[in-house]
Formats: sequence, structure tokens, C-alpha cells
Amino acid sequence: MARIRVLPPEVARKIAAGEVIERPASVVKELVENSLDAASHYVWVDLWDGGKRRIVVTDDGEGMGPEDAKLALLRHATSKISAEGDLFAIKTLGFRGEALAAISAVSHLTLTTKTRGGPGTRVLAEGGEIKELLQVGAPQGTRVEVEGLFFNLPARRKFLKGVQTELAHCMEVVLRMALAYPEVGFYLKHNGRPLLRLPPVKDLRVRLGSVMGKEALPFLIEVRGEEEGRVVGGWISKPSFVRGNPKGIYLYVNGRYVRDRLLSHALLEAYRGTIPKGSYPIAVLFLKVPPEEVDVNVHPTKTEIRFRKADLIWRLFEDTLSKALSRPLSEQTPSGPVPPPEVKEEVSGYARGAPAPESGELGFVGPKWRPLGQVLGTYIVAEGNGGVLIVDQHAAHERIIYERLRKREGDQDAQRLLVPLLIELRKDELRLLMEQTGELAASGLHLEPFGEQTLVVKAIPSFLRPHEVKGFLQELAQDLSEGSKGKGEIREKIWALMACKGAVKANTPLSREEMERLLRDLASISHPYTCPHGRPVFIELDRKELERRFGR
Ligand code: ADP
Ligand code: MG
Repeated sequence: MARIRVLPPEVARKIAAGEVIERPASVVKELVENSLDAASHYVWVDLWDGGKRRIVVTDDGEGMGPEDAKLALLRHATSKISAEGDLFAIKTLGFRGEALAAISAVSHLTLTTKTRGGPGTRVLAEGGEIKELLQVGAPQGTRVEVEGLFFNLPARRKFLKGVQTELAHCMEVVLRMALAYPEVGFYLKHNGRPLLRLPPVKDLRVRLGSVMGKEALPFLIEVRGEEEGRVVGGWISKPSFVRGNPKGIYLYVNGRYVRDRLLSHALLEAYRGTIPKGSYPIAVLFLKVPPEEVDVNVHPTKTEIRFRKADLIWRLFEDTLSKALSRPLSEQTPSGPVPPPEVKEEVSGYARGAPAPESGELGFVGPKWRPLGQVLGTYIVAEGNGGVLIVDQHAAHERIIYERLRKREGDQDAQRLLVPLLIELRKDELRLLMEQTGELAASGLHLEPFGEQTLVVKAIPSFLRPHEVKGFLQELAQDLSEGSKGKGEIREKIWALMACKGAVKANTPLSREEMERLLRDLASISHPYTCPHGRPVFIELDRKELERRFGR
């Protein structure tokens, strides 16, 4: 191995810069953060060729005096902390004092700045050296121009992606900050063409509409939770509005955008069983914790953090979100009380074997949904609550049964069969099922072995019909054979499968009373939006949506 040498300063500078500045989007992030730290009301971002050719960030913030303008470009020059103790109480986005130094080390940088009442200053720097310092006329605020990023690091420059990719990253960075600072106006242009126009607004919801699309707004619910000085707040989408990727998820800790596994796991955990696998909700959530409880120093670009009280944070996050998501429809959209409809039992349809509503569910306060009829033997069309509802009868019934099983923790009424069922299965199926007799009995299905390949079923849950039991057991055995599962997981599997088998099928005519009862039951449960597999239960068309579609 060669002898150890201390790197020449210009080399060391470039290496340090590489830790902070990876691509145009990192420059945009650092510059916009500085603008926000300077209490700006407006931030303008102008990019050329995805920022590879030129990046200009202009703000109307506090600006700097001539001395500070010069110091700002030095490494570890910051106005934001002065002693080690301050590190634990950081309230600004920046604090390391290395961003401007790093950017100037790998570009041609021009900083123009002016405080209120002070003189205007311009600093020209190149490869980390200040070349010129001028007094100039300028509006209050700061403007930083960065040209030829990585001009002196060709290997790095070659590594940059195409214009569209780099541009997309830059836009994403601006959107992240725009969601956290709705009261600040953000404007982004590319090669002179306006791409983002986000005027300052008072209400985060308005900004959410601009960033996520207006169609998302009716599906967003506001959340808030607090425990011992730790607060989580923001907006999340109902399980009926999901995306195929996690791009609609924005998490912030103490005002700073973070990518944190703990928080994203807790978020998805709250949606478990209500959205399909591989789909993601929209979520813009802000967590506020005492600054000394987070370590933002884990990574130079600071999107990764570490919590000192991770378990508390997880619980607060998950609890708050689960609670918000399990608010029944009837609470979310209160309207007048509904008289209990007449219930007439019919063997083929929905009301078959459905347990009687628990007291309190009759006469509940909820949306008045009046069934208008059934379409294709499969969907119930209902009116009320200011719009039209189309309900998948099977998915809805599945969810209702599943929620009841879940609420009783399986402690399900079993109906003793007058004539026990004998069911023949394969040996391996039988063996797997025999390991779960306790769990099955808790869910109302009592079975015992009866020879090598047969079992006898003595009681079944009220919502299952005898001829559905064999299919249920076979599918369960198939699932059990696909690898070991925890107790909780097996229990949920049993409930979901039972719900699926017991639920009214598609292509089954329903009477008006059955439809009314199904809608009423649906309005009273905690997770009405999707079936246990995550398919949507209903589609809502409100007046606005109808007017939009008819071009009114
Ligand atoms: P940091 O933000 O970590 O302090 P930077 O290198 O990003 O380090 O900035 C150095 C200093 O320059 C900041 O502490 C701040 O005082 C000043 N500064 C940078 N950008 C601006 C701006 N847009 N408006 C006012 N002051 C700024
Ligand atoms: Mg900074």
C-alpha cells in the first residue's frame, strides 16, 4: 500500500462537496432550504436543462450584509448555530454551514443579496474560491445562480441522468418543501417555461389540492394525535383512494422532510387489511417531537433521521392513523337518524344467517342511503348523502362479516348441526387443519378427526352454509401449506376466508330489505372502504363529480 498523504485542499473540498451535492436536485434543495430559513414569502426556482446547465434560486427573505455574503461561502460558516449545545435544538433546515461552500466548490456560483436598508452585494466564486466581491443594486432578498454543476468533476458530471430525470428530481424537492410551507409561494420554471405555480395559501388543504390533484381532496381525512408533547398531524387518504406507488407519501419531522422506515411502516400498518398489497395511500404527515429526541445528523443530506424513543413514536403514529381510519362512515358524514328498516329473512340473500344487529346499531346516526335497485345482479345502487353510491354486494358483505369476526376476536356463535358433516380431504390437508382446531373453534367452526382422511364438522358459524365448508377448509389448508405463519396471521386468514365464503355472491338477486340492511350494516362498521383482500367496496359519485362528468 502507498504511503499516507494529506489531500491537497482543493481535492478535499471536492470530496466533501460530493457528500452533500449529488445532482441538481441537491443544489435546489439546499438553496430553497436557505430561502426558507431566511423567512422568505416567495421562492422562485429557474432551471435550465434539468438544472445541469443552470440553476437560479431567488427569494424575498432577509438577505445578507456584505460581510456575511462573503462568509456564507466558507465551509462551516453558518448563522444558525454557534455552540455544540445548539445542535440539539435546531429549528432551521440548515445548520452545518457547508451547503454553499460545497456548491461553490463544484460550480460557478454567483450570490447576490441585500438586507432591508443595507447595501446590495454580489459574490462570484468558482471551484470554491471567491473571485470577486462587488457592491451592486439589488432588491431585498437573495439570488443564487449555479452554472455548470460539476464542471471540474467530469466523472461526476457524466453520472448525471437525462434532462427529464434531473428535472423530475428537482420538482420533487420543491414539492416536498411546498407541502411543508403552504404559506410560502413557490414558482418553478424550466428553460423559461412555467412548470409549477404555487401561490401562498393559508390552508394546507388548498396546497394539497395543487400538489396531489383536486380529485384527491374528497378522499382526504385530517388526522391529529398527541401524547406528552409529541404531536402528529396532517392529512391521509381514505383506503378507497390509493396509488400504485408510494409517491403520495410525504413525512416530515420537525418541519423537515424525512425518509424514515419506522414512520412509513407505522403508516402502512394502519392501513393493513384495508388496501390491496402493492398500493399506497396519500399521506402528508407532520411529526413534532422535542428536538433532543431526534438525531438529524445521521446523513449529510438529512433526509434520514434517528428517533431516540422509537417505540413511543411508532405507537403515537399508528394509533392516531388507525383511529382516524376506523371512524365509521356514519361518524364521518353525520345526517339525520334513520328509522330501522323492516327486516325480512330470505334464505338466498344477504340477510341469511346475518347476526342480529347489536343494540345501538339500530337507529344509528348515519348517511341516509336509499337503495334504488340492483345492477347486473351484483351491484347495489343507492342514493343519499348528496350523491350516488354503487356498492359491490359481495365485497361489502365480506367486509361486514370480517369486521364482526374481528370485533369479537373470533368469539363467534356456532350453530350446532343436526346432522354432522363428514368431509373427505387429503391426508396432508387434514394434518394442517388439525393443528388449527382451536383457532377454528374460536371462529365458530368445530371439527374433529374421523379416520385418516375424513373429518367431522359438528358446528359452523351462522353465516356459513354447510356446502361451503369443504371449499373453505381446502383453501385454508392450501394457505397453511404455503409456509409458517404467526398465530395472528392465521386467525386473520381464517376470518377473511370465512367472510369470503359466507358473503352473498355476485349474480344473486337481493330484496329491497336485504339491500337496506346491507347498507345499514356497512355504515356501522369501522373499515367500510375495502374488502379484506383490499378491493374497493363502493364507489361514491357525489354531486360535484356528477356535475363534472356532465360538464354542468
Ligand atoms: P447552513 O444553511 O447550514 O447555515 P449554508 O452553507 O447553506 O449553511 O449557508 C450559510 C449561511 O449563509 C447561512 O447560515 C445563512 O446565514 C446564509 N444564507 C445562505 N442562504 C441564504 C439566503 N437565501 N438568505 C439569507 N441568508 C442566507
Ligand atoms: Mg443551508
